[in-house]
Amino acid sequence: MSPMTLRPSRQASSPIKVSFEFFPPKTPEMETTLWASIQRLAPLNPQFVSVTYGAGGSTRERTHATVSRIVTETHLKPAAHLTCVAATTEEVDGVIRSYWDAGVRHIVALRGDPFAGIGTAYEPHPGGYRQTCDLVAGIKAIGDFEVSVSAYPEKHPEAASLDSDIDVLKAKVDCGADRAITQFFFDNDHYFRYLDRVRARGIDIPIVPGIVPVQNFKQTANFAAKTGASIPDWLAARFEGLDNDVETRKLVAAAVAAEQVIDLVDRGVNEFHFYTMNRADLVYAICHLLGLRDQSVKVAA
Ligand code: FAD
Repeated sequence: MSPMTLRPSRQASSPIKVSFEFFPPKTPEMETTLWASIQRLAPLNPQFVSVTYGAGGSTRERTHATVSRIVTETHLKPAAHLTCVAATTEEVDGVIRSYWDAGVRHIVALRGDPFAGIGTAYEPHPGGYRQTCDLVAGIKAIGDFEVSVSAYPEKHPEAASLDSDIDVLKAKVDCGADRAITQFFFDNDHYFRYLDRVRARGIDIPIVPGIVPVQNFKQTANFAAKTGASIPDWLAARFEGLDNDVETRKLVAAAVAAEQVIDLVDRGVNEFHFYTMNRADLVYAICHLLGLRDQSVKVAA
């Protein structure tokens, strides 16, 4: 009998790099959870940690406060998400400048979802950045920021075709984007097919897979339906019957995510962006399986 293994069948050709995504906390309890997670994950020495920007710009101050605290209290490199939604160009430029002044050197530039919610028609703000490539150019004009953008291996739900979505990615790269982070996916073949098409279009920036550990299958499935990510039948089957069994769900989630990232490593990927949902446990375990160890990067209490 051959033993089942959770080791990569071959080592990554170059060192594994990771980044972690958090969202700004709403309450003091959520703030405590977030900082406990940052403390736990920091010693893994991520390339950067990013902080999302709420729909419609609703977390402008909280995103800024979280990113500023990361700058002042840790050795981590923060990346601030920023969208074009519901703000004039001057307002967005003001946010970009305040990040520069706070010592932030990396922005994740996004169009953002329609102000009235996912599924409604997107209307650019009359005095604002019309699309992401304009925002990327605006950021680069203000300072020497590193700029990451989004990419959609299964197509953005609003895009007429995958090719037209790749045109949008190309425009963002032509305006200076340095890296793309993908929407989450569960079938790695989607990622590799997308990568082939992107490279064939002459796009050569890193296309970093976004990995979501499934903390709650129902929530993930609902979110996937809105964002155009597909849920394979085998994934649904693995979580079947576990709605009220948190402990088993966690173990299954760790196994599923480990399987996914190890397959990606086996197929040549060495860079990952984790959607942490502000929880460290699963992500820490997956990073450990990837070979990452405590680098003793201390985060001040
Ligand atoms: P783009 O990549 O610029 O465009 C995607 C598609 O939208 C295009 O292919 C096109 O079909 C359509 N489109 C874009 N612009 C126009 C236009 N002007 N007119 C018509 N169609 C257009 N959302 C947040 O609110 N806050 C966040 O912090 C956040 N972080 C994210 C991080 C990652 C890694 C990813 C993948 C997504 C994130 N999102 C976030 C979600 C994102 O804002 C939505 O998916 C949004 O609908 C599209 O923004 P984008 O920058 O991805 O769009």
